[in-house]
Amino acid sequence: MVEQVIVIGSGPAGLTAALYAARADLRPLVLEGSQPGGQLMTTTGVENYPGFPEGLLGPDLIAAMKKQAERFGARFLPKQVQSVDLAIVPFLVATEDETLECQAMIIAAGASARLLGLESERKLLGHGVSACATCDGFFFRGKKVLVVGGGDSALEEALFLTKFAESIYVVHRRDKLRASKIMQDRASKNPKISFIWNTVVDDILDVAQNKVTAVRLRDVNTNDSTDMPIDGVFVAIGHRPNTAFLKNQVELDSKGFIVCQGDSSRTSVEGVFAAGDVIDPVYKQAVTAAGTGCRAAIDCDHYLSSLREA
Ligand code: NAP
Repeated sequence: MVEQVIVIGSGPAGLTAALYAARADLRPLVLEGSQPGGQLMTTTGVENYPGFPEGLLGPDLIAAMKKQAERFGARFLPKQVQSVDLAIVPFLVATEDETLECQAMIIAAGASARLLGLESERKLLGHGVSACATCDGFFFRGKKVLVVGGGDSALEEALFLTKFAESIYVVHRRDKLRASKIMQDRASKNPKISFIWNTVVDDILDVAQNKVTAVRLRDVNTNDSTDMPIDGVFVAIGHRPNTAFLKNQVELDSKGFIVCQGDSSRTSVEGVFAAGDVIDPVYKQAVTAAGTGCRAAIDCDHYLSSLREA
């Protein structure tokens, strides 16, 4: 069976695309990916999604969006896309156990946390190194932890960790935070949080013990290195788009973001549309992702209508 439209991804972009495509009677099939619901599933409270003056939990927002899309006929499969073949229509979408076919596609595969790229970081991931305080913060009750980064994610992680850890050190490579003023104010007022400026993490110790015991920090101005005893390291230095499976299929820019045609959600392949963090190196908000998901579904509906009329 050839689906009219397959939506790849189930964060705010994919779910909004699914809602609009369902209401256009396209019966979208959503492939939810390795982390159904996307990054909002691992965030704490969402305070800036319009319409919820008291804020709400990320997973609750996702559950409501999914329910709304299902109400109009969207279907969901908890599958991860391994590769796509966009050379001819119907497009092919390979998951771990089957290959699906579709006339049109909306790619909303989101983004994943970036890591520092240290070998010790890779080896100690899950053993004291984490990219998700909401997932792993609980294990650091009464401990001393380090958060790497200077954006909203780093401060959100640091603030969340104050529930558990005794002290939190935010290490930033510059002397100015990138984070929003409100997050800066909250973090600087919290007595458990302190900042280490102009400093990078050169290594995480101790791989031999299979646990985090210290970090090797380097002051970027003086080049002086020090080993600081620590129990855990949370890396919060931004995200990269989940587009590796699209290489040589649609046009990507040098950082891996999908390139859209003009002011639209159209990719370099006719019939393939993109939304959310896979196209957005700038805003990266749940509400902007939802907005682009809406655009992609509308563009997709126009495209499928034009095929029917041709
Ligand atoms: P971001 O804004 O891109 O910040 C990444 C931070 O990591 C920057 O401070 C950057 O330093 C630092 N960094 C990058 N690569 C590094 C490296 N190799 N070594 C050390 N430091 C490195 O990413 P984000 O914090 O994940 O935020 C992404 C978007 O989501 C933003 O638009 C943000 O506003 C939004 N967000 C909002 C909330 C909220 O409102 N509560 C929460 C989370 C995220 P430089 O500053 O020197 O570049």
